[in-house]
This record gives sequence, C-alpha cells and structure tokens, in this order.
Amino acid sequence: MGKVVVAAAASGCAVVACVVAALMVGRSVRRRRGWRRVVRVLEELEEGCATPVGRLRQVVDAMAVEMHAGLASEGGSKLKMLLTYVHNLPTGNEKGIYYALDLGGTNFRVLRIRLGGQRSAIIEHDVDRQPIPQHLMTSTSEELFDFIATSLKDFVEREENVSEPSQKERRELGFTFSFPVKQISSSSGTLIKWTKGFSVEDMVGKDVSQCLQQAMSRKGMDMRVTALINDTVGTLALGHYHDEDTVAAVIFGTGTNACYLERADAIIKSQGLLTTTGGMVVNMEWGNFWSSHLPRTSYDVDLDAESPNPNDQGFEKMISGMYLGDIVRRVILQMSQESDVFGPVSSKLHAPFILRTPLIAAMHEDDSPNLNEVARILKESLEIPEVPLNVRKLVVKVCDVVTCRAARLAAAGIVGILKKIGRDGSGGIASVKTKNGIHKKMRRTVVAVEGGLYTNYTMFREYLNEAMGQILGEDVAPYVIIKVTEDGSGIGAALLAASHSASEVVDSVQLL
Ligand code: ADP
Ligand code: MG
Repeated sequence: MGKVVVAAAASGCAVVACVVAALMVGRSVRRRRGWRRVVRVLEELEEGCATPVGRLRQVVDAMAVEMHAGLASEGGSKLKMLLTYVHNLPTGNEKGIYYALDLGGTNFRVLRIRLGGQRSAIIEHDVDRQPIPQHLMTSTSEELFDFIATSLKDFVEREENVSEPSQKERRELGFTFSFPVKQISSSSGTLIKWTKGFSVEDMVGKDVSQCLQQAMSRKGMDMRVTALINDTVGTLALGHYHDEDTVAAVIFGTGTNACYLERADAIIKSQGLLTTTGGMVVNMEWGNFWSSHLPRTSYDVDLDAESPNPNDQGFEKMISGMYLGDIVRRVILQMSQESDVFGPVSSKLHAPFILRTPLIAAMHEDDSPNLNEVARILKESLEIPEVPLNVRKLVVKVCDVVTCRAARLAAAGIVGILKKIGRDGSGGIASVKTKNGIHKKMRRTVVAVEGGLYTNYTMFREYLNEAMGQILGEDVAPYVIIKVTEDGSGIGAALLAASHSASEVVDSVQLL
C-alpha cells in the first residue's frame, strides 16, 4: 500500500514537474512573443516619428510658404499671422515702474519692474507666481478676471508697502494674454478662441483689456492697460531689450507659439499699413501650423480626435508640454494591451493627461543604472509595479522618440521663420575680404526662447539645438543664436507697457 502511495506520489511529482516545465516553457515562449510585440510597437513608433534632415527641410519650406499665405489674406493659411500693432520694441530708454500680468497656461504671474533708462537696466524685478485654479479655466469671464484683479491688487499693495508707499501717478500695466487675440491696437483686442484647456465661453469675442479694466475698477484699482500682448511678443520685447539682433521669439511651454519682426509692406492683407519703423511684430499662432510633411502617427490622430479641439493646433499637439506626456501614455497603453510585459493593463493608462510631460522628462533623463526613477513613476503615477529593467529601458526609448520628434520639428519651425525673413543663409553668405584672406560673413540672428519645456527638459533642448545645426549647416549655424529669455513673457509686457505708455509714441501705426 505504502509503496503504491509512494509510486503514485512519485509519478504525481513527475507529472507536476512536467506541467511546471511546460508552463515555464509556455510562459517564456509567451514572454518572448509579448516582448517581440512591444518591440514592434516601438519600431513602428520610431518609423512613424522619423525626422531625417530631408523631411525637416520640407517642414521648413512648408512653414515659410504658410507664413506667406497667412500674410497674403485673412484665412489664407492655418497660420493666422496676427497683427500685434507692436512696432517699436523696447530700446533701453524706458524708465520708471511698470506692472505686468502673465496669463496663458499653467501658471499665472504678476510682476513689477523698475527700469533704469538704459539697455538691460532692469533695476528691480518682483514676481508672484501661482497656478490657475482649475475651476476658473472653465468658469465665467467675470470670475476669471475678478481672480486676476484680486491677485494684482494684493501684489500691488504688498509691493508698495515694502518700497515707496505713495505712488502718485496712475500705474501702467502690460497684460500678457497668451491665447489667439484679434488686436485692435497694441493695447486692446478680442479673444478669437481658447486653447490649452481653457474654455470660458462668454469671453470669446470680448475685448480682453476691457474685461481686465472692468475687473480692476470693480476692485477699486486705478491702473491702465497700456499693452495687450501674448507671451511670444513679450519674449521678443525682452530679447530685443537685451540684444537688438533679436528678430523672433518662440515659446515652448504648456503650448507653443512664435512671433517675429516683419516688414510692414510684406503684410499684404493689411494693405496701406504704415508704421514709423516700417516693421511690425506678427504673432504667428504657429501651434495651428499643419503640413502633410509632419510625421503623424495613430497616437497623434487619436489624441487629436479625443481632444476638446479636434483638427486644431496640430503642430502644438506634436510639440508642446501639454501633449508630449499624453502621447507617451498612449504608446505605453498600446504596448500594455498587446502584451503582458507591463502586467495586467493598468486602468490609469486609460486616464488622459495622467502622465505629465515633467514626468516623461524625469524618466527620459533617469541616469541611475537600474532606472529607479522610471520604476517609481510607473508605479506611482500609472500603478504599474515591478517592471523589469528591459521594459523600463523600453519606456525611456518611447520618451526619447516622442521628445526627439517634437524638438526637431520645433527646430524646423524656427528655421522656417528665418527662411521667410531671409536669415537662414539660403540667400548665400557674403564673402568679406580682409588682410588675412576671404572670410564668410552673415548677419547675426538671435531667436529668444521661453517656456518650461525648453528650459527644464535638457534632452528637448539638446535635440532642438542639434537639429538647428543640421538644418542650417555648419557655415550658417554659428550666426543663429537661440537665447533663453527667462520670464520674457511677463517682463516683456512691462517693457512694452513702458514703451507704449503715455509718455512714449503710442499712435505711430496708421491704416491708410
Ligand atoms: P506656461 O506659461 O504655458 O504655463 P511654462 O513656461 O511655465 O508654461 O512651462 C510649463 C510647462 O512646461 C508645463 O506645462 C510642462 O509641460 C513643461 N515643463 C515644466 N517643467 C518641465 C520639466 N521638468 N520637463 C519637461 N517639461 C516641463
Ligand atoms: Mg508662459
């Protein structure tokens, strides 16, 4: 009996061992198959996001063509190419105390600067920064502007208590409002549409300065809006204040946009526009740029279709901080659905925008040997625990592909602007004869850049700078300088409030 039991037990063990072995083989076969599937997802992503220099040059050309079309007629291009009525950029002569408000994305800033009457002479600069309460992004214009005016009032009272308590003159304010606005003058304009997740419906079509002016009156404040601009124009103003070779400004933050200095006579759609300087800053609203040369994947198509603004802001959705994290999330979700390398599909992977761009930057730049930061973020933000090292590496690669594409397309956009204004070197580089032989010479061109994506995400910055060099070539690239212009969107508004204030020339733009 005992023998039978032992024999049965022994044969049972053998069966179990076989089953375990078969299961292990099966699991390893499945794991290998699963791994192959995620690698295929990655390869397809890489292919879909490829940005060889040839393709970037096509994007450069498309950008320049669209710019021409947008300047030729209203609605002539997806690029709105909006007039800003800003033609006299700060020179350095500005003097006095000015305030600025910066509203346009994740954070809201109030600033105060004291200008010393010389180039680069910002004597004092105080900033109060706070996130926009989520509920105000979809509330009413009155609620939104009451919040803004209250913050401004608190700031003014605090600052003036600290420094000089009795400011007698009426205070002047530059307002940076970074949404598409149809300007009426350099200090007023109406909201065309909201972007970046804002949706205060009763604001659309209203005069933005007036909304602020009314809210300030409600709060008993005596302050005048002397400049209404967007963040790109502010950045250009500050860039120009420091370096007069600055001809364009680009924002890479929650959203993306660009502006540049155009010849007034090239703005065909407003025939007869005269400015004393012969130029005008044009707000491109380049987030809405589109070209068939842009490398688009199924993830981009889905992101767009599920967004509150489908078929809109196509370039922005490939490039800016609001979206990069969500593209990565979509790829990880796809991988997780196609194989079990991430374990069971986490419900968090279905939540839009749960993976923010700073998190993908942290994963991308994780230089620990075991990619501990990647593991932590997958666990804490996406509830995907215990991911093996090879899968963590895969996640890093996904972040790399998505960010690399964004940065390279951004570079192509910048070169597109330079091409439009003849600063990309394609017209040839002048040869100058000197004692020591012939030297090539080109005008120095500075592009001011601002935004958390560019300043905080090193890999984005490096990919962008590398692509600039590749597109422009080694002869031209040294003459094009990308300059970080920190807090430009706010400080620039205060500078423009100064250069457009009552004491300065205000109405030197005429429509004939
Ligand atoms: P905005 O003025 O549009 O709110 P900011 O210039 O303040 O934008 O930048 C904020 C945006 O920059 C965030 O929405 C985020 O997408 C991006 N960002 C901030 N920090 C980082 C980071 N460390 N890595 C990558 N992106 C970042
Ligand atoms: Mg900003």
